[in-house]
Amino acid sequence: MSFRTEYMQDLMSRVEKNHPAQPEFHQAVKEVLLCMEPVAEKNPQYVQAGIFERIVEPERAIVFRVSWVDDNGNVQVNRGFRIQFNSAIGPYKGGLRFHPSVNLGVIKFLGFEQIFKNSLTGLPMGGGKGGSDFDPKGKSDGEVMRFCQSFMTELAKHIGPNTDVPAGDIGVGAREIGYMYGQYKRLQNEFTGVLTGKGLNYGGSLVRTQATGYGCCYFTQEMLATRGDSFKDKEVVISGSGNVAIYAAEKSYELGAKVVAMSDSNGYIYDPNGIDLDAVKQLKEVERKRIKEYLTDHPQATYEEGCHNIWNVKCQIALPCATQNELNKEAAETLVKNGVIAVAEGANMPSTPEAVDIFLENKVLFGPGKAANAGGVATSGLEMSQNSLRYSWSFEEVDEKLKLIMKNIHSSAREAATTYGDADNYVLGANIAGFLKVADAMYMQGIAY
Ligand code: GLU
Repeated sequence: MSFRTEYMQDLMSRVEKNHPAQPEFHQAVKEVLLCMEPVAEKNPQYVQAGIFERIVEPERAIVFRVSWVDDNGNVQVNRGFRIQFNSAIGPYKGGLRFHPSVNLGVIKFLGFEQIFKNSLTGLPMGGGKGGSDFDPKGKSDGEVMRFCQSFMTELAKHIGPNTDVPAGDIGVGAREIGYMYGQYKRLQNEFTGVLTGKGLNYGGSLVRTQATGYGCCYFTQEMLATRGDSFKDKEVVISGSGNVAIYAAEKSYELGAKVVAMSDSNGYIYDPNGIDLDAVKQLKEVERKRIKEYLTDHPQATYEEGCHNIWNVKCQIALPCATQNELNKEAAETLVKNGVIAVAEGANMPSTPEAVDIFLENKVLFGPGKAANAGGVATSGLEMSQNSLRYSWSFEEVDEKLKLIMKNIHSSAREAATTYGDADNYVLGANIAGFLKVADAMYMQGIAY
């Protein structure tokens, strides 16, 4: 897809020039700006107030050194990031990713996406993201703890329950959040809701663990319902086997579907009987082992090296829940050929732009990550509410609120897509609906940022 208007083409060229060598950030910005051409035409006040130029520039970018000592007594140095992208509608909010692929461009793409995703939830949360190129894989608990403490020693200066509220993402789960929370408390002498995804015994919210995966399925249910369809008796392929993938699988089963394949970064498993989710949970959440080990107790299953080929497995519903750009044009064509009906992104930007085009051209129901995976951060928003109230809601209460939020995201995306002439295009709808709320808030607050 290319730009129709000189205005957006110029802006995109400036982003590419001013943020060199950050392909993921360019990709995320381009997708949004392409959807913004009709919005700019309808709303000249946004152009006049420089909203588009301002929204693609982070309010603040923090990069810092993280030194720590490994189990052999050697000093290790990693790089830490926090991008405070946009605070028009609330404190910066977004996860922390610990993965060797993390760099400034990756965190900027994630922070940029977070602005629109958080806006779509209807809760008052701005957009931010952070992380490090630290790899928790293969590290001892002690090493992870020392890294987290060092990371938080710097991060604590920049965050706060009314300023910026980080959470988890790839490589950051309950263990890492716990170590970082402990260090923040020690440094600030404050027990506040400065992080979300906390343990249930110290301010965490029920359903937060399940929320991204469950939310992704609730969103898919809404899309399927527009065509009078449901999860019942469908075969589902889910990439990944982390927190998002596991709970997307759990909800798929609850809704009457069969999950036939899951993956990790080494390869994928296919089980014609349906993946035994308890076994995957045991391997991934408890033992921290590779998914290949699933075959030991499941001889009917097969394993294939290389995670990308998972999209060759026939299914009617595909949920990419691993990482960015994991599903390319070829994979999208295979999925379409095999009869896929719905694709919903549990991960952030897992489909390449060419893959998205294939889904849209073939009228596949396609839920972009900003909408389909917003359940995680939405439930983080609910955790913040409970922390402010100094109260906890029951599992059912939080789950009901999550369901309602996902239903509302679906209807606002659909409504915006319809207004802009393409009802089934959730990419257009999610970007526009997410943008309008933030743009109006920026407009009303004047030109200070
Ligand atoms: N990392 C998640 C996301 O991509 C959750 C962020 C949060 O809970 O703040 O939305």
